[in-house]
Amino acid sequence: MTMLESYRECVIYGIFILVCINGSRCEKNDEQAEDLYKLMVEVMGSNYSQDDENTRNKGKSTWETCESRTDSLREALTESSRHTLVSSTYVSFFTHNLRLQSDLLSQFSARATEHVKLAKSISSHLDVDVRQGIEETKKLVEQVLAIAENLIKSTPWVKNRHLVAKFEKITSELRMHDNYGKDFQKVTNILVAVEKTFLECRLSYSFVEESDLLCYIMTASEHRLSHGDEVFSLDDNAFNNHPTLAFGFPNYHHTQYGREMASKLGYTGFTVGHEIGHTFFDSYSQPELLPYFSKQVDDCVQNQFNATCTEYMEDSCATTDDFLDENGADIFGLQLAYELMKEYYGFNIGNIIERLNMTYDQLFFYSYAMGFCSGSLSSVELQDDGKYEPHSAHNIRINTIAQHPAFQQAFNCPTDSRMMRSATRQCHIYGNEAPETRRKFLI
Ligand SMILES: [Zn+2]
Repeated sequence: MTMLESYRECVIYGIFILVCINGSRCEKNDEQAEDLYKLMVEVMGSNYSQDDENTRNKGKSTWETCESRTDSLREALTESSRHTLVSSTYVSFFTHNLRLQSDLLSQFSARATEHVKLAKSISSHLDVDVRQGIEETKKLVEQVLAIAENLIKSTPWVKNRHLVAKFEKITSELRMHDNYGKDFQKVTNILVAVEKTFLECRLSYSFVEESDLLCYIMTASEHRLSHGDEVFSLDDNAFNNHPTLAFGFPNYHHTQYGREMASKLGYTGFTVGHEIGHTFFDSYSQPELLPYFSKQVDDCVQNQFNATCTEYMEDSCATTDDFLDENGADIFGLQLAYELMKEYYGFNIGNIIERLNMTYDQLFFYSYAMGFCSGSLSSVELQDDGKYEPHSAHNIRINTIAQHPAFQQAFNCPTDSRMMRSATRQCHIYGNEAPETRRKFLI
């Protein structure tokens, strides 16, 4: 029986199944006795720990202790299950311990699964071999970061408020997580240790009926796993947990195997810009990481998304404060990626790629839009806590390009076209055209 099957059984039958521990045949082994003691504390909670203290101090032999502990465990569980039927005190006592056990097992199962997922995901990165894509994405991070830093330093409010040094410090902290070798070693070491505990336990307690289940519980008790990192995910995703940036497999794959830099920048370049954008875009009223942020910029971003909602709502759309960070990261991320386009192609940015019959800058915008295509109507999602999932609807995110002057130029959009009608004036998040927010002093 695998550990997962043991767990499933446990869920089906509940912890009461432990009463079937029978025919106990303790080995004369200190370690086993200690393990059983730990299990008793796990199952019965701190009450058992106190009650048992006297027994422990009586200096009984390990053999007697182990025997008596196994019996005691069986009796305690049988008693508890009997009392569950008649005594409300016991109901609450045992339900409490049952819940602790259930929490322990479900947490262990969830976190072990996260660790397995990470190990499998890193394997996939290596099997398909996107190592070069990881290197290239890291280079994109450095390039986009340099562009962001220059824009920030030329921003009037940053200079006026003497915040250049603070921004330099924040910029220098950002790192892309790329150490797949170390992560793989770490996660496999953890999983091997977990498996070892389980197998050793099974060898030691083979005399116990349902030993797999018992060992599953003991393994879960011994290995309190932390959350498995999502630093190497197979999903089309990325995150900025400042100062750590991480990107999903599709970004690395496209960056390594894509043929045109314009399409790499429209997809991975934008994702890099968006994630870096999260560090430098904030809420004016409640800045998290930055010492200050501009209200005009916040308003400008939300006005664009609101205008797009009005013009393009499909299944559902909203522009509340819940979306502010993501909306800002979209607009700033696109601007950063396009700045890198200009650096890379220079005057050739409008040249036609014969094979595709489109220009480099057109390909950039197509590639950006393709990243959001899902084949279903775009919508926003209201969560259980009453807040929105913070990403705007996919089609609304795509229309971010409407306010970038390069888009209208690339496709020669008529001013009265639908996309242009939905475009507000470009929001300059940073740079010398960013809104002036000089301190005003009241006299
Ligand atoms: Zn984001």
